[in-house]
Amino acid sequence: MHKPIKYVEKGLSVAANGAWFFYDRFNAFSQRPSFTPNWSDKPLLKSHEKVKPPLGWPRETDSLCPTCVREARQDILDGKKDYKILLNEKVGEIKAQIVERDGKILMVKECPVHGVFEDVMAIDTEFFKHLEESFPGSDIRAHNDAKLHNHGSSTIKYGRGSVLTIDLTNRCNMMCDPCFMDANQVGFVHELSWDDIKTLLDNAISIKPKRQMSVQFSGGEPTISPYFLDAVRYARKVGYNSVQAATNGIEFAKSYDFARAAADAGLRYAYLQFDGIGNAA
Ligand code: SF4
Repeated sequence: MHKPIKYVEKGLSVAANGAWFFYDRFNAFSQRPSFTPNWSDKPLLKSHEKVKPPLGWPRETDSLCPTCVREARQDILDGKKDYKILLNEKVGEIKAQIVERDGKILMVKECPVHGVFEDVMAIDTEFFKHLEESFPGSDIRAHNDAKLHNHGSSTIKYGRGSVLTIDLTNRCNMMCDPCFMDANQVGFVHELSWDDIKTLLDNAISIKPKRQMSVQFSGGEPTISPYFLDAVRYARKVGYNSVQAATNGIEFAKSYDFARAAADAGLRYAYLQFDGIGNAA
């Protein structure tokens, strides 16, 4: 037996949902054109214009064979294949099934060459359902970006570009097991030159739509790139509102002067990440 207030709340909730349903339908009849903000060349989407991919489960989706991807990456690095295969071919693409099993949501896929892969997507099915139901639909279609967003079948088609991540280097002053960049562990150094960094910042700021254009320098450890301070300074100069570093903080902790120089260059956030070894830690 619930308290009477709970029944009142439930009644109000049902009434509000019903009122919203009719208000929404009524509004669909005489729509005014959408507003075009100055960060976009096209009008914002009306709610009925937003599309959603199929959600729920079981369902089929597009995925990648992790081994095919690793092999293709190695072939490109070794000069055996042209990087353009990533634009013109569906490298490693396979179908995957999203299913519920033993109270978890799994992605199960089979590569004809490398066999079956299973990944846990969620350990809480209700929360996963809530996340999917909260998706409001696709954002405004990207424009002015035909050359910059050509990533083959992985091309980003929607969105307003809120945070750009630039990995300045794959070097790091740590060597953590769960590092998703495998920093210091892949046997080669990949580090952006100043021209690379400048080109990325210049290109990304030219794309529309954009609203809050933030950049997060990441890595590896971005603060050990020789261009870290220049990159922060230049990003602020060309118009990025919020310049961040995804960092382990060691260089800042070692040197007050370095931390001061980063702040003076325009660094707004140091984004610290702490990894545990399980759900409890
Ligand atoms: S500190 Fe971060 S980037 Fe460096 S090895 Fe650890 S997880 Fe990777």
